[in-house]
Amino acid sequence: MSVIDEVKQRTDIVEVIGQYTTLTKAGRTFRALCPFHSEKHASFFVYPEQQSWHCFGACNIGGDVFSFVMKKQDIDFAETLRLLAQRAGVTIPSKFEKDTGKDEKERLYQINEAASQYFHNLLLNSPAGEKATKTIPAEEKLQ
Ligand SMILES: [Zn+2]
Repeated sequence: MSVIDEVKQRTDIVEVIGQYTTLTKAGRTFRALCPFHSEKHASFFVYPEQQSWHCFGACNIGGDVFSFVMKKQDIDFAETLRLLAQRAGVTIPSKFEKDTGKDEKERLYQINEAASQYFHNLLLNSPAGEKATKTIPAEEKLQ
């Protein structure tokens, strides 16, 4: 299992998002005032089963716990991974750490590789990705 999967598995999106906005249970979902835009009626939803979120208001965007933290904290993927791993008690292999004295290029390469795995997975397994892959002719689809 990749570090990303492990962090995701040990992270509850409801808990994380609950730190930024007040979530109200509504059936199988949670509803809240969107933490990204100003609104009076809650149009921000969290889906515990899918571990995803979506703002149906002005933002009209959604994603998973990584994209939420990236957007909310305005940090990059590597920083988000570090933050959530620490929170989940997952040890990040030293290749992801900044201060190992390793070649900077190598470190960036490995973080990019992890990020591309993440976004590739998102493309294949998220509703937004489904939309994107459907517009690609079959023979050009990623494996
Ligand atoms: Zn919004």
